[in-house]
Amino acid sequence: MNLKEPLPVLVIGGGPAGLSAAGDLADLGLRVILVERRERLGGAPIRWNYNLLAPAMRPMEEVMGPLIGHVESNPLVAVHTNSSVESCEGVPGAFKVVVKNGKVGASSVLVVSSVIVSTGFEHFDASVDPRYGYGSAPDVIAIHELRACSREGG
Ligand SMILES: Cc1cc2nc3c(=O)[nH]c(=O)nc-3n(C[C@H](O)[C@H](O)[C@H](O)COP(=O)(O)OP(=O)(O)OC[C@H]3O[C@@H](n4cnc5c(N)ncnc54)[C@H](O)[C@@H]3O)c2cc1C
Repeated sequence: MNLKEPLPVLVIGGGPAGLSAAGDLADLGLRVILVERRERLGGAPIRWNYNLLAPAMRPMEEVMGPLIGHVESNPLVAVHTNSSVESCEGVPGAFKVVVKNGKVGASSVLVVSSVIVSTGFEHFDASVDPRYGYGSAPDVIAIHELRACSREGG
């Protein structure tokens, strides 16, 4: 029987997918290192202040609050915000990963058993193509701006 403690799992990205993965793995008793490049956990729903979250269409805060809280309060999960992976080498079961904290400029070397990449998506910047009229035509707006208008009653 192998009595050695398993290496932690690295989760890259602290949106709903990464938070769920990190929380579920910790519930199984595994150590997790969660690396999020932004200052805050939560991914797109927090960043863009979604109103309701799929699939149950519950208020965003009701879903994301416990998801974030479960990870932040879990002693098995080490959260690295403002951080990103600089390099990764190795084989399944033992990867050597260099994580850099962009805010303080410090790097740390981690050894993990596996890596979950849950880096999500970025909204398309419509201003890069003038054909959309975004930025020049006042009535062309992005979805997060539409949401902000509807929240403000605009
Ligand atoms: C236009 C639009 C509107 C939407 N509206 C809704 C809605 O109203 N309700 C709803 O339920 N769903 C909505 N969705 C879907 C929802 O956004 C996704 O289902 C959800 O965000 C996916 O979660 P995720 O964790 O995979 O990705 P994300 O939420 O994108 O999270 C990824 C995380 O990874 C981090 N990251 C990225 N790259 C790195 C890196 N290299 N290193 C470290 N961290 C990194 C990011 O900063 C981010 O925190 C919408 C999607 C789109 C495109």
